[in-house]
Amino acid sequence: MNALLNLQTLVQLQKEHFNSGKTRSLPFRLQMLRRLQSAIEKEESAIMAALAADFGKPAFETYATEIAILLSEIKFMLRHLGKWAKPKRVKSSFLNFPSKDLIYPEPYGVALVIGAWNYPFQLTLSPMLGAIAAGCCAILKPSELTPATSQLTARLLQETFPPEYLTVVQGGPETSQALLELPFDKIFFTGSVPVGRIVAQAAAKQLIPVTLELGGKSPCLVDDTADLEVAARRIVWGKFLNAGQTCVAPDYVLVQENVATPLLAHLDRTIRQFYGSNPALSPDFARIINDRHFHRLQTLLKPAHIYSGGQTDAAQRYIAPTLLSKVTWDDPIMQEEIFGPLLPVLTFKTLPEAIQTVNAHPKPLALYFFSKSRTAQEMVLTQTSSGGACINDTISHLTNPYLPFGGVGTSGQANYHGKASFEAFSHQKSVLTKGFNPDVPLRYPPYGKKMNWMKKFFKWL
Ligand code: NAD
Repeated sequence: MNALLNLQTLVQLQKEHFNSGKTRSLPFRLQMLRRLQSAIEKEESAIMAALAADFGKPAFETYATEIAILLSEIKFMLRHLGKWAKPKRVKSSFLNFPSKDLIYPEPYGVALVIGAWNYPFQLTLSPMLGAIAAGCCAILKPSELTPATSQLTARLLQETFPPEYLTVVQGGPETSQALLELPFDKIFFTGSVPVGRIVAQAAAKQLIPVTLELGGKSPCLVDDTADLEVAARRIVWGKFLNAGQTCVAPDYVLVQENVATPLLAHLDRTIRQFYGSNPALSPDFARIINDRHFHRLQTLLKPAHIYSGGQTDAAQRYIAPTLLSKVTWDDPIMQEEIFGPLLPVLTFKTLPEAIQTVNAHPKPLALYFFSKSRTAQEMVLTQTSSGGACINDTISHLTNPYLPFGGVGTSGQANYHGKASFEAFSHQKSVLTKGFNPDVPLRYPPYGKKMNWMKKFFKWL
């Protein structure tokens, strides 16, 4: 009860701060983005140490996927925010002539950002950049599964911003649920589909606008025109980055039957090139986040399916990069998002069959297709639905701030990154401004015979 009261007080404090108008000024927003930029740069080695402590994340991967991605997003916002924040003039309608019509982006107010553990620093701070850019206040609730990173995020924010503006609340599901009871003006959630449903229900109760960044099984299609060697490198990189614990990792490969054998050989060779003959010794391969996920993955790993890899070490929460063949859609591994370093390789005969397979399952967060055929590429892009897609690559679409990132269907709702982050925390207020003259009386009662004039007018428009 006390904790809830404290949270209530915190939200109240942020509401008062937001209502002071201070966070809305453009110079203030730019200054806060710069302040965060310096803080992240200063804490670079502490961030790497926290991620290494939480799940052995390689420093290179922490730099690329947690630090550099945030810094480049901040730079992008600093460059473009002035333009995004300006009211946009749109065409006036003749019905209202003469009028001036504008769209004013206005900040929602106080936002709640709930993050996932797999990119624990970036996944709470990146939405927060949108909150700052829009002029909101925010409370961040990072994942309890990465305590070192959550602690570091809390300290970094505490040292950089006053709590009535931006702050971290640490805790697990109960803390999230207590926060979800409070009158936020925006909720931004990153995490699993089942928890996404809980968050959406809580938001619906108070009619709070919500962004849901969820997950699912992202397919990776390879046809027989693809350059298999390059495809294998890009698939292995995307799958085993962060030990497969990436929301947009290729969950499974669907390869055209006649090139399945060479693709498997290329994938296997690439794994050894990247991580050596014993990946347990590689400094470039992360560990599984906790025992629960380690055992979940171990249960999905059936010895009869192993093409290569398959070694595990519970003490280290290590699971080798593993290729699985002879998997069918009835196997448990195809019933849930894998979220670990296990890659099932299934086959298809014709492209329409592969498309049908993808469409028979929930809409994924990402879809990857390796092919040299423009016609086949277009066919896959126009006949399937996914949050985003890459042709002849994996994951890279989310590094372009000009491309909004998000899911569709069960993989999520709404987008962020770049301008989409600003928009995620902004209401688009439509404003029509008129002078006092002329004041055409056609619309005013008594209507009398005005109906005929009205009809003529609308026909003429
Ligand atoms: P999760 O849903 O278990 O947890 C996410 C957050 O929700 C955490 O902060 C957690 O404390 C909180 N939470 C957990 N149970 C809750 C409950 N009952 N009520 C309220 N809050 C609760 O997800 P996770 O395991 O941290 O992350 C993995 C999932 O997130 C995967 O499905 C992955 O695909 C997805 N994900 C999506 C994206 C994206 O951008 N779309 C990014 C990363 C991860």
